[in-house]
Amino acid sequence: MAAPLSADRLLQALRAEGVHVVEVGNWRAHNRNSKGPWGPVNGSIVHHTVTKGTASTVAMVRDGYTALPGPLCHGMIAKDGRVHMVGWGRTNHAGGGDPRVLEQVIAESYGTRPTPPTKGNANGTDGNARFYGWECENLGDGKDPWPRAQYQAIVRVQAALCRAHGWSAKSVIGHREWSADKVDPRGIDMPELRADVAERLKHPASWNPNEEDPMAGITKKDIFDAVWKTDAIGGPADAADHKTNPTWQAQSILKDVQARIRNMDRRMAAQTAAITALAGQVGTGADTQTVVTAVETAIKRAVIDDNTVES
Ligand SMILES: [Zn+2]
Repeated sequence: MAAPLSADRLLQALRAEGVHVVEVGNWRAHNRNSKGPWGPVNGSIVHHTVTKGTASTVAMVRDGYTALPGPLCHGMIAKDGRVHMVGWGRTNHAGGGDPRVLEQVIAESYGTRPTPPTKGNANGTDGNARFYGWECENLGDGKDPWPRAQYQAIVRVQAALCRAHGWSAKSVIGHREWSADKVDPRGIDMPELRADVAERLKHPASWNPNEEDPMAGITKKDIFDAVWKTDAIGGPADAADHKTNPTWQAQSILKDVQARIRNMDRRMAAQTAAITALAGQVGTGADTQTVVTAVETAIKRAVIDDNTVES
C-alpha cells in the first residue's frame, strides 16, 4: 500500500531511469478523480492500444472516446520508446479485475504468474484506484512487432515505479492478468518482462546494459570516406588504392603522410645547406647567419603548418 507518487516525483524517477518523457498538455491535472478514488496504489498495469500512429494514439488515450472518457492511462509508451504523459490521478485503464490477483500483487506472493483472473469489468474490483496504467502503441494483432526501444522503455518505466515504491517486479502485471475480459498486452511475455524489470532493479537507475557500440558496423571504407572525401585539399595520391588493393589499410594513409614529411625534412635540410654555402660566398660573413636564421624559421613554420593540416 502506498500513496501515489506526485507528478514531480514520477518525472524524477522516470528520468533517473533513462526514460524519454514527453509531457502532453495539462497531464498533471488531467484525471478522473471526480468519479472515484485514486490510491492507495499497489502496482502497475501494462496495456496495448490496438492503434497505429503515435500522434493519434496519444490523442486517443488522452481524450478517450464516447463510451470511455479519457485519460485512458497515465503514460503512453510509443514505438520509438518515448513516454507521453497524458494524465495523473485516477484514469480509465484497468477497469474491474480479480480481487485474488490484487491480493497476490500486494503480497508479491505469486510464482511466475498470478492466478488467472475469473472476474472482469462487470463484477471485478476497481483497478483504476489501485494501479498505475501504461498504454503501449501496438495493434494487438499478435503480428505487430514490439521494437526494442519500446520494450526497453516499458521495462524502464516499470522499474522506475518499483524502485520509487520499493516494490519488486511482481507489482507489474499485464491487463490480461488482471481482467478475464482482456488479452493485452498481446505479444509481451509478462514473466519475461518481470524478469527484465527485476534485473534492472539489481542495478542503479542509471544502468545502461544495452548501450550500443558507436563504432559497430563502421568499416575501413566508411572511415576512408569520412576522413578523405570531405578533405578540401584532397587525400594522398595513392589513397584510392583501397578499392583495388586487397592489402590496403586505413593506416596506409598515415604512413604515406609520415613518409612525405620525412622527405620534406630532407629536402629542406638540403636547401638550407645550399643557401648557407651560397651566402658564404656573398659579401661579408655577417650576412650568412641572417640568411640561415631566416631560412630555418621559414622551414619550421612550413613543417608546423604541414602537421596542422593533418591533425
Ligand atoms: Zn488494457
